This record gives sequence, structure tokens and C-alpha cells, in this order.
Amino acid sequence: MSGGMRAGGLGIGGIVLLLAISYFTGQNPADLLSGLDQTGGVEQPAGPPADDESSRFMRVVLADTEETWSAIFQQQGLRYEPPVLVLFSGATESACGLGQSAMGPFYCPADRKVYLDLTFFEELARRFGAPGDFAQAYVVAHEVGHHVQTLTGISERMAAARRNSSETESNALSVRQELQADCYSGVWGHYAARKNMLDPDDVEEGLRAAAAIGDDRLQRQSQGRVAPESFTHGSSAQRVEWFRRGLESGRMDACDTFQR
Ligand SMILES: [Zn+2]
Repeated sequence: MSGGMRAGGLGIGGIVLLLAISYFTGQNPADLLSGLDQTGGVEQPAGPPADDESSRFMRVVLADTEETWSAIFQQQGLRYEPPVLVLFSGATESACGLGQSAMGPFYCPADRKVYLDLTFFEELARRFGAPGDFAQAYVVAHEVGHHVQTLTGISERMAAARRNSSETESNALSVRQELQADCYSGVWGHYAARKNMLDPDDVEEGLRAAAAIGDDRLQRQSQGRVAPESFTHGSSAQRVEWFRRGLESGRMDACDTFQR
């Protein structure tokens, strides 16, 4: 399963590092929940026009997450307010600070926007497959998963809990929150598969992407050893497991990573 990934060598390590930095940034905004009322849409700050295949694909994925999560929220008598998608190259301002290309994709709860760096996705496409492949969709759906956590209040509760925790406890909470976003990404994948947007190869690729950005692999690449207490995203195996749970069930309540 990892043969293709290893072929990428240092390149993959670089991407993986970028992903790690983005996740750290995405989940640690100083203050959460500004109560802004967003209506969804796409913002395009300065930079080259994002009309390539990759950015069109990300808009399609975002629109589809909107459809899926609106339906799921509606079943629970709730209204889904979609995040705004910000496509950028280079750097962009966010309510969580300056977003830079090196950070890769991130979600900012304070402005409820998903920030996707196009150069990162070009690199991802080169390493994981052609534009339009599932690895990119998985990353978008994971960030949307963090938006769902903001809407359900989980993000705010976790941020409060982590303020009163030791670093080890705080990291453990972060892992559970990240795994839930992976599971929510799988929930979206469940409905995308039912609409024949995904084929089994796509799903396999999504799982490989999830495995490739597990903290254990990141740490092995950067330190040559694994220290579970410092995980903030979960191991590759955990990420695959929770993604699969969401994918197979299509249910939010299958994603209670805090109970297990
Ligand atoms: Zn995340």
C-alpha cells in the first residue's frame, strides 16, 4: 500500500511536513467562534487566476460537501451554514493570522473559512495523482469536517478543555478532534460514492493519503522515532480507521472519537 508513496521519497516528506504545519495552524487559532454569519461562496485574493483544473475540482468538491452536510443537518432539524472557500497562492490574511503557502490547507474557525493553497495542491497532484483525484478531495473534506465541528460546538468545547490541560492531555484531545474530522471526511465520501462520484480506486487513494499524513509517519520522517504522547493528528492506522468508519456508515454518530 505504501510502495507508490515511498517512490516519492523526500518529496512526499516535504508535502507531509507542509500538511503537518497546516494542521497545527488550523487547529490552534487563538480564539474561536466569532459568530459571523457566512453564506458560503468562494473568495479569490490576489494572485494568479485560479481557473485551472485543480481549483475547479476543489469548487466542485466544496459544493458537494455543502449538499451532503445540508442534508445531514436537515435530518437533525438543523441548518448547515457552509464555509467560505478561499483559494490562494503565496500568502493571504485570515482571522487566524497570515496564511502562507508553506502551511498548506487550513480551516479558520474565527472567520469560518477554508483556506486552500493552490501551489500546495499542485504539488499534491504531482505526488498523489492527477488533479481531480480523491487525495485532494479528502483534504478539502477534512477541512470542511473542522467547519462541521465548529457548527456543532465541538471545536469550542475542545479549545476550552485544552486550555486547562497539560500538553499531553491537550495533544490527546487534538488527536480525537482530528480523527473526527477524518471520520466526517469519510461521511462525505459515503454520499459521494453513492452518487458515483467515487470509484474504489479513489477511495483507496483517499485512504493512502490519510495514512501518509498520520503523525507516526510524520514523526518518523522528521525525528526517526515515534512518540505517541506528542501526536496531534493520530497515527496513520487511526486516521485510516476513522476515515473508513465515516465512509462505511455515512453517519455522524459513528464519528464519536471522544468516547473511544
Ligand atoms: Zn485537521
